[in-house]
Amino acid sequence: MTQARSVDTLIVGASFAAAAAAKRLTDAGLETVIIERQALPRHKICSGILSPRGHRFLIENFGPLPREVLHEPTYCRGVTFHFPSMVSMSMDFFGGTTPHLHRKYSDHWAILQSGAEVHDRTSFVGLEDAGDHVLVRARRQGEDMLYRARHVIGADGPSSLVVRALYPDYAKEIPWFFVGQKFHPIIACPLDEEYFHFWFHPGLGHYTWSHARDGRQIVGVGFKRGDNFDARHRNVVRYLEDKHAVRLGEAEEHEGCAENFGPSLINRYVFGRGNVLITGQAAGFLNMIGEGMSCALHSGALSGEAIVEARLRGRPVQETYRSMVASEVRHTTDQWNPLQIALGRPHEADFPAALMKLTWRERRLVLRDLWRFVVLYKEFRWGRQIAAASLQRLFAPGYPMNTWR
Ligand SMILES: Cc1cc2nc3c(=O)[nH]c(=O)nc-3n(C[C@H](O)[C@H](O)[C@H](O)COP(=O)(O)OP(=O)(O)OC[C@H]3O[C@@H](n4cnc5c(N)ncnc54)[C@H](O)[C@@H]3O)c2cc1C
Repeated sequence: MTQARSVDTLIVGASFAAAAAAKRLTDAGLETVIIERQALPRHKICSGILSPRGHRFLIENFGPLPREVLHEPTYCRGVTFHFPSMVSMSMDFFGGTTPHLHRKYSDHWAILQSGAEVHDRTSFVGLEDAGDHVLVRARRQGEDMLYRARHVIGADGPSSLVVRALYPDYAKEIPWFFVGQKFHPIIACPLDEEYFHFWFHPGLGHYTWSHARDGRQIVGVGFKRGDNFDARHRNVVRYLEDKHAVRLGEAEEHEGCAENFGPSLINRYVFGRGNVLITGQAAGFLNMIGEGMSCALHSGALSGEAIVEARLRGRPVQETYRSMVASEVRHTTDQWNPLQIALGRPHEADFPAALMKLTWRERRLVLRDLWRFVVLYKEFRWGRQIAAASLQRLFAPGYPMNTWR
């Protein structure tokens, strides 16, 4: 029988949500262990474009960023949107440039700064919540591991096994997307390397992007799972060459993964049950154009704070977490809320101002292209849910909690 390691809190996954949660817990003096299935520092597929809010969080919580955690170019000025009508709009981030993160090193740096004990090459397998503690089973290089924790935080990303342990059918209830990117040598590329480029083009995919990294050009495409990555990617490369005069060599590397894009659009987050909290992208947090680092950091911190608060005041941890994380839900879901986009300022770059710089004809083309792009998502039947949540939000400071799990 394996001896259980007792800890105050066990966190599954060693990424940004975990680092932020761990920082709050260790600051409060709670013994915290993070388990990570990969060897650290580990690779993470990501463009590494951080929002200003995420940038502020990193500096305030973990200190100035070392040079090793950055790719070349080391910063990003903002985003450029491209439309099928060949109108392009560049928008600078509010408050200046943000760092272009190398996730392998930035995540490891944040994890080390958090002060938690880290067990890498250790995979979460399952859990049982006994009411006053949670038993977690894990495997480390073929060896069974057992942890006994007062609380557990699932920060294990989109394909979360912690979510699956609590809600075995959840993965079947949401649509899944595949996002893949290839790395190309550059022959000629007129796309400004200081910006992240995104195409609102239904003929290219649900999510199409390109940007420079370490002397190569990334071309990425996202679509509903089941389609052919190579064919989709080839189509985008051809389009970039025809329409933007981008000339690239044969791809030297490629990578891809499954994404749970959707829960934040329709306010269907998963926050856990009993003594187990879910946070970061595992909970469904994803900002506009797939920026997930800032909401992973903020929601992660809130999960850690909720545990500290619940222990201090003897309050139920789920209730505490849900009331605290409502602010992050508001922030994230507002980004997808058409009424907030029209009437408020939910983003960290000025889309309305960029639109106003265009001629009347271009504005009309952009709005038409945006509508055609949105129609691509019709099959997921999110329209009514977004409309209902948007209307409720008009009369309340946040979003209803009854759609959360
Ligand atoms: C192609 C692509 C590009 C992206 N570009 C951007 C971008 O430019 N900017 C941005 O902000 N966001 C981007 N994102 C999204 C962003 O990467 C995520 O939203 C963010 O990393 C989520 O952080 P997290 O801490 O919740 O989880 P993750 O970063 O997904 O980390 C989860 C961790 O858990 C570990 N883990 C998983 N299962 C287990 C297990 N069973 N046992 C132990 N450990 C486990 C994983 O190895 C990983 O380390 C991109 C995503 C993709 C796929």
